[in-house]
Amino acid sequence: MQTIIIGAGIAGLAAAVRLAAAGHQVEVFEANDGPGGKLSQFSLGGYRFDFGPSLFTMPQYVDELFRMAGEEPTEYFNYVRLPEVCHYWWADGTRFSAPGDTDQLADAAAETFGVPRGRVAGFMADAARKYELTGRTFLEKSLHKASTWLDWQVAGAMLRIPGLDLFQSMHAVHERDLGHPKLVQLFDRFATYNGSNPYKAPGLLSMIPHFEHHFGAYLPEGGMYDISQSIYALAMRLGVSFHFNSRVEEILREGRKVCGVRVGGREWTAENVVCNMDVWLAYDRLLPGAKRPARTLSQQKSTSAVIFYWGIRREFPELGVHNIFFSEDYAREFTALEAGELSDDVTVYVNVSSKIVKEDAPAGAENWFVMVNAPADTGQDWKSMVQTLRARVLTLLQKRLLAPASAAENLTLEDLIEEERIVTPPEIERLTGSHQGALYGTSSNNTMAAFLRHPNFSRKIDGLYFLGGSVHPGGGVPLCLLSAKITAGLMTG
Ligand code: FAD
Repeated sequence: MQTIIIGAGIAGLAAAVRLAAAGHQVEVFEANDGPGGKLSQFSLGGYRFDFGPSLFTMPQYVDELFRMAGEEPTEYFNYVRLPEVCHYWWADGTRFSAPGDTDQLADAAAETFGVPRGRVAGFMADAARKYELTGRTFLEKSLHKASTWLDWQVAGAMLRIPGLDLFQSMHAVHERDLGHPKLVQLFDRFATYNGSNPYKAPGLLSMIPHFEHHFGAYLPEGGMYDISQSIYALAMRLGVSFHFNSRVEEILREGRKVCGVRVGGREWTAENVVCNMDVWLAYDRLLPGAKRPARTLSQQKSTSAVIFYWGIRREFPELGVHNIFFSEDYAREFTALEAGELSDDVTVYVNVSSKIVKEDAPAGAENWFVMVNAPADTGQDWKSMVQTLRARVLTLLQKRLLAPASAAENLTLEDLIEEERIVTPPEIERLTGSHQGALYGTSSNNTMAAFLRHPNFSRKIDGLYFLGGSVHPGGGVPLCLLSAKITAGLMTG
């Protein structure tokens, strides 16, 4: 069976492995000069940066790929579990270092925020219950096949819907169950893990912290890029052919059956085409004349981001791998995002992979990935927005990290930036082919969002399949790996 995959993002790579292991002859066409898509890397001077994802959960979905190919994952891919998953900072000086273990999280939260221990423990137990009841159903199966709905497990999950907080927002659930405003803000942040708004996303998504605090947060030994690199190498060992710098121009059809792709004017034939390209852009650019699923394609985009990659010529022992500097008014921040703007008081995320991967920065220095959630690109003036934002971020981090020392040393954070690259939403679209630079395809800002994502197959064109962050079950590395599993499952039976 001849199969062509468009795009070597993480989902395309995982599908290549699964299909090759099932006996397909797989060719991957990728517009960029290497694999990974959003999960790629680059260097600035002596610093290495992962381009996109920094938080790695559910590593078992990567391990599974090696095992299904008959290989032992630890021979090729290793990662460490982070004992502290995130350091949180508030403007009033409160700091909280969140342990990776659920029991320890409840203890630490009780101590820092003065809430009863059982409140956080109970909340996390509820997150686990929501995941157990719905996770496998909604994340590991196609929602668009009758067979899914005939499954008794799915029927059971549907019966329990009234207790799953589907019809109130995450924020409302967090206020109800956690009470303390800082804990509410901390758990509201998990909505951004799929580019959503906690004031709109359904309370069912309060299961997301279960991924981080139960299954754990990890970092691959060579940084996040190890994930795509090791799956790419595995696909090569299984005989998959990769064509880089090869942008697919059209998905070819004969009647209602797919028959190949056109690349650089040349036609390549195949019985199946698997599209890892953003689904909105695929209909727009690769399927001329095909009927567009208008409702599906008109869903609200997930958020995008502005990222400052900074080589910092100093070490900050108070920072961990993941750090969040919260704004003072979270609701205002999301109101601004919904309006396509940036608030004047933003939450700033700082990731420092060199805390663990020492080669990522020169001795005595750190590689900072500084990210602010931003609206998807609808033609905003990013140049001036970024100029204002950069000054704000520097002031905020200077105040919280350098204030005491800088007075004595007359030092600013800006003085410590040795290397810099800035990426905006239009560049994310240009570099990774995501419509409007959305990080996670469409948002989960309404109850029906999960059902309105594009299916993993075409209803109109036989042999055409879809996977990756813009289709079911959604964005983020673990879900993209699951989309590959669902799609390969549909293709191989
Ligand atoms: P993509 O990575 O979107 O790749 C698609 C590929 O298709 C690209 O390589 C593109 O060049 C190629 N392509 C497109 N069109 C064509 C064409 N016509 N012909 C050939 N090739 C084509 N997720 C997490 O789990 N944790 C995080 O911490 C996290 N943080 C993130 C931070 C940022 C800044 C970004 C950008 C994303 C983040 N994500 C995170 C989301 C995660 O990176 C994505 O959900 C995931 O990597 C998307 O993978 P994908 O398989 O959909 O493909």
